[in-house]
Amino acid sequence: MSDEVKFTGRCLCGAVKAEIVGAPKWSSHCHCPSCQKATSAAFATYVGFERTAVRFPADEPKMYRSSPGVKRRFCGACGSPVSFEGEAWPGEIHFHALFLDQAREFEPEAHIYVKSRMPWVELSDHLPTFRKFDEEGEG
Ligand SMILES: [Zn+2]
Ligand SMILES: [Zn+2]
Repeated sequence: MSDEVKFTGRCLCGAVKAEIVGAPKWSSHCHCPSCQKATSAAFATYVGFERTAVRFPADEPKMYRSSPGVKRRFCGACGSPVSFEGEAWPGEIHFHALFLDQAREFEPEAHIYVKSRMPWVELSDHLPTFRKFDEEGEG
């Protein structure tokens, strides 16, 4: 693996920065109750990478275990959500898309957990929807 930095990220205040040497694996929107609370937003958009392709060259983000096997990282100075890691996705780190400087390049492929979608969010982008993360269907 070449260690040329391909993508970068930064939180709102700039204390946490990321450098990524690998390609994104996928991107999707998550409407689960845990992502809703962690971001105080209707849904969260993620871009997944191999954990080994990522380094944090400035401040180490703080970490909160929101459920068993789940690590949510955020900036300890400004509170911006940074990433998600879960045992269901071993070896991966899922960045909040807009933490990444190249967010415009990562087009989401699906909506997951639409089971808990806010009733006032209207999905009109024609992406596939999953009731949970692997169960296809309208929420
Ligand atoms: Zn910050
Ligand atoms: Zn979620």
